[in-house]
Amino acid sequence: MSEGKKTKLITAGRDKKWTNGVVNPPVQRASTVIFDTVAEKKHAIINRANKTLFYGRRGTHTHFALQDAMVEIEGGVGCALYPCGTAAISNSILAFVEAGDHILMVDTCYEPTRDFCNKIMKKMGVETTYFSPTIGKEIEELIQPNTKVLFLESPGSVTMEVQDVPTLAKIAHQHDIVVMLDNTWGAGVNFSPFDFGVDISIQAATKYIVGHSDVMIGTAVANEKCWDQLREQSYLMGQCISPDDAYLALRGIRTLDVRLRQHAESSLKVANWLQSRPEVDHVRHPALETCPGHEFFQRDFTGSNGLFSFVLKTSDTKATTALLDGMKHFSMGYSWGGFESLILANEPKSFDHLRTVAHPHFTGTLIRLHIGLEDVDDLIADLEAGLSRYNSVMLENAAEL
Ligand SMILES: *Cc1c(COP(=O)(O)O)cnc(C)c1O
Repeated sequence: MSEGKKTKLITAGRDKKWTNGVVNPPVQRASTVIFDTVAEKKHAIINRANKTLFYGRRGTHTHFALQDAMVEIEGGVGCALYPCGTAAISNSILAFVEAGDHILMVDTCYEPTRDFCNKIMKKMGVETTYFSPTIGKEIEELIQPNTKVLFLESPGSVTMEVQDVPTLAKIAHQHDIVVMLDNTWGAGVNFSPFDFGVDISIQAATKYIVGHSDVMIGTAVANEKCWDQLREQSYLMGQCISPDDAYLALRGIRTLDVRLRQHAESSLKVANWLQSRPEVDHVRHPALETCPGHEFFQRDFTGSNGLFSFVLKTSDTKATTALLDGMKHFSMGYSWGGFESLILANEPKSFDHLRTVAHPHFTGTLIRLHIGLEDVDDLIADLEAGLSRYNSVMLENAAEL
């Protein structure tokens, strides 16, 4: 446990039990597992929930290697694997609520997380209260006798507010509430959830763990208190993943730290450049002071990555379209965490449905960037040309008036 995190990323999940003596755990495909004797079958039944080959849905050695790796990296005692991050989130919540219960959900959660609460949870008689990502001790006032889950996501989706996770977790625990964190941005490397009171750390491994934009996977790592309940629920909901995908996630883990450091270095350079631009109102990069909750980033995180956003001073659909349509290196597309750069725009009115208690009230368009592994000067030149196109349209608009 005293090994450095970088070393851990190289060794995690590479037990000889799983690798059979080669460097990478082989892809082991299975539905049926064959037992030679009645005694062997009995042994498998007894140990079926504990990394023993039993039936494909319970996982093979490739899955066990990834589960071990995630626990070694993030902490906790067990890791459930899901076909995507969204499944990891919804199944983790489902495992800890029943009809009549209450969830406290951060207002800046990933959009499908909100939809899951508003549609599926509501239908099942579970109520959700949203709270501001900048809330501290006042969270206590929102706790009800039936509150079972406190769900955090730090930094918040799109608007990037960093949360005071240890303060919120401490108060939740005083009320016997399970603390879940969408730790996708932290990627298991830059934020150590279990050191800050989180009970279940969830990741869209789709993003940085896989790192190459070609696999969907969700992970939920739980501590001792929550593992059995999480694992059983996941199993009963039939959650499982392909061993090929597990293999690719394991491969991604080996270069996670070096990728993240390059993403972080380049994104900080782009963020600083954007701050100097007259078109930009402010930059929301957790490593910069202008990001809400920056002090918690400074205190709790060990590094950042390539994902951040910035807000323009103005909002003009035609000008934003001119900016986006002409990009050379930034592609338009959902997701992030791959080697390539991405760009998306959110007009101020889009927050009317994305936020219910912490509307950011931007007057300008928010642009979210994922800074990939390209030459950062090429990316800055691309953005510079984009802002020129933006300005040209704004000038044309002004001339028309
Ligand atoms: C992408 C994302 C998810 C969902 O992951 P999928 O694998 O796409 O389902 C959840 N949370 C955050 C913060 C994400 O960015």
